[in-house]
Amino acid sequence: MKNSSLPSIKTFGTGGTIASKGATSATTAGYSVGLTVDDLIEAVPSLTNKANLDFLQVSNVGSESLNYTQLIPLYHNISEALASDEYAGAVVTHGTDTMEETAFFLDLTINSEKPICIAGAMRPATATSADGPMNLYQAVSISASEKSLGRGTMITMNDRIASGFWTTKMNANSFDTFIADEQGYLGYFSNDDVGYYYPPVKPNGCQFFDASNLTDASEVPEVIILYSYQGVNPKLIVKAIEDLGAKGIVLAGSGADSWTTTGNIVNEEIFEEYNIPIIHSRRTVDGGVPRDDVPEWAIGSGYLNPQKSRILLQLCLYSGYSIDHISQFFPAFTVVEGW
Ligand code: GLU
Repeated sequence: MKNSSLPSIKTFGTGGTIASKGATSATTAGYSVGLTVDDLIEAVPSLTNKANLDFLQVSNVGSESLNYTQLIPLYHNISEALASDEYAGAVVTHGTDTMEETAFFLDLTINSEKPICIAGAMRPATATSADGPMNLYQAVSISASEKSLGRGTMITMNDRIASGFWTTKMNANSFDTFIADEQGYLGYFSNDDVGYYYPPVKPNGCQFFDASNLTDASEVPEVIILYSYQGVNPKLIVKAIEDLGAKGIVLAGSGADSWTTTGNIVNEEIFEEYNIPIIHSRRTVDGGVPRDDVPEWAIGSGYLNPQKSRILLQLCLYSGYSIDHISQFFPAFTVVEGW
């Protein structure tokens, strides 16, 4: 029975630690996915005071196994729910490892003022002091709050409300892992109240991509990330394009515009031969690659890390944009019109 005085929220389960069970209450590693999204909702009875919850299981895996095969239906289901008058917002339960990628993709493609909040957990549901139930409760509260309108896709973990566009998983193990060091948090969840530090605003560089006709993972162009290290093989880019069919490359350079000299010679030759976009991002957890700091055949990723750069480049390629046009989409240090 729906409570007509409460908003309705559609909740999508995808798997992850939040839906996992371990052997004992002290097991915090080596657990596996074993709960469905309705199990997660049932475990938090106080959710009925916050919202009417409908749910859909989109997948039930660790988020390292997610890809466009699951993301595309997730996107369509969320779009449909938010387009209807029935729902005030959406919640996604998700593994933490690639949560930032899903959040970034949804932030760029969902065309709605209604909030989407993604929550996960760092401890499985069976652990003492499991964090999942509170994270889910707070995610529903955030999406059910009118204060959350116009803020796009958010991530909530550990009482903090973070931007899906900027936030990164910084620590493989600790609770307080979702951070956007430079850009900060959007707000804080305190004693059953959603609080924001600023009025609603979209991040600079957060552009909308129309994915409404995207139906199959095969329609998304392959973009491969290459990781820098001392002695990185300069031919990896050749393999990525010629053997693996990459239509774009993201370089996780050692710093801001830092790829080996020999590698850059090969990269330039590849660019001239195939005319595909090559994004210079960084392997460092934070910082940026300025537009003016990269070779003329490359595009600086601005503040975006490699995994977010990959998704942005894929959406640009899917949209049929030219390399010149694509370069305008990467949030840069250099201020360009409208940013
Ligand atoms: N690797 C798993 C995942 O991302 C578990 C990690 C987690 O959810 O915290 O789904």
